[in-house]
Amino acid sequence: MDIDVKEIVKISHDLYKRQLVSGKAGNISVRSKLENKDIIAISPTLKSLKDLKEEEIVLVDLEGNVLTKGKPSSEVNLHLEIYKARNDVNAIVHTHSPYATGFAFSSKKIKRLEGFGKITTPFLEEIDYLPPGSIELAKNAAKAIGNEDVLILKHHGVLCVADQLKEAANLAEFVEDIAKTQFITHTLNLSEEI
Ligand SMILES: [Zn+2]
Repeated sequence: MDIDVKEIVKISHDLYKRQLVSGKAGNISVRSKLENKDIIAISPTLKSLKDLKEEEIVLVDLEGNVLTKGKPSSEVNLHLEIYKARNDVNAIVHTHSPYATGFAFSSKKIKRLEGFGKITTPFLEEIDYLPPGSIELAKNAAKAIGNEDVLILKHHGVLCVADQLKEAANLAEFVEDIAKTQFITHTLNLSEEI
């Protein structure tokens, strides 16, 4: 399967436009099979997804060896460990989108609202804080994600996984939206005036 770099660029720009990533935060990747080997195309470190270019996308193998020029996202381990743990996942979107990340920095959990597939537990799965970019965070996330498609990284951000990049990006938007809805509902409930 060829790597659709155009799609990675398009979705990167889209995530920025949808205000799910800002500055140089946020990263995305796609897994492809090339001659039976897993190749991960990932956004580069220290670049904004806002104006990511095709030639800036970095290819790595599952062990993290860099196969092209450029330096992969500092969160590359997080992506690689998830791919190792989940054969069904071929795309990952990681954001620090404001509402969902607000929840991640608080003691509140994001409710698993309708539209989130089968509701088995009341809240989105989350893991305790470990330093961004660390192998400990990556391994913990890979262990905690189980069959979930969203993982909240406490005091950090959001991780969404899917078979297709477009799906993972839509999920990132959906998580941000339900966090926003939950926040608005909570705020309205504080007032008895309306
Ligand atoms: Zn991050």
